[in-house]
Amino acid sequence: MALPYLVKHIYSYGTEEVIRRGKKIFALKNIELAKFDPLIGSIHCRVKDDGYSTYYKVTIENFKSAATLSLRCGCPYNLSEVCRHKAAALFYIQDLFVIYYSYELKLIFVFARRSTNFLSFNSRS
Ligand SMILES: [Zn+2]
Repeated sequence: MALPYLVKHIYSYGTEEVIRRGKKIFALKNIELAKFDPLIGSIHCRVKDDGYSTYYKVTIENFKSAATLSLRCGCPYNLSEVCRHKAAALFYIQDLFVIYYSYELKLIFVFARRSTNFLSFNSRS
């Protein structure tokens, strides 16, 4: 099961530039999964900016439902509901959750292994 409302949220609240730059950050894989709690539906990501070599903490809470979805980012460009870091993080977790919901009991292992590879890949660069 994918979570299409995450992507819908980006397109509803993000400006054209935010969406373009969020997609770029996602495509460059400049996102690290810092914390994931499937039971309460909370995720912390570290998202690297596309213009500066700064990481920002993005917190996504209650992602299991579009009605309760809550987003926070530590960046100073946070004037609208969706900044480019939040957009990148939503593209990222939408991508992860397509896999997450596909594997039933193996899902957490698959998810954790993927994110571990991902973290070590990023720390080498
Ligand atoms: Zn931000």
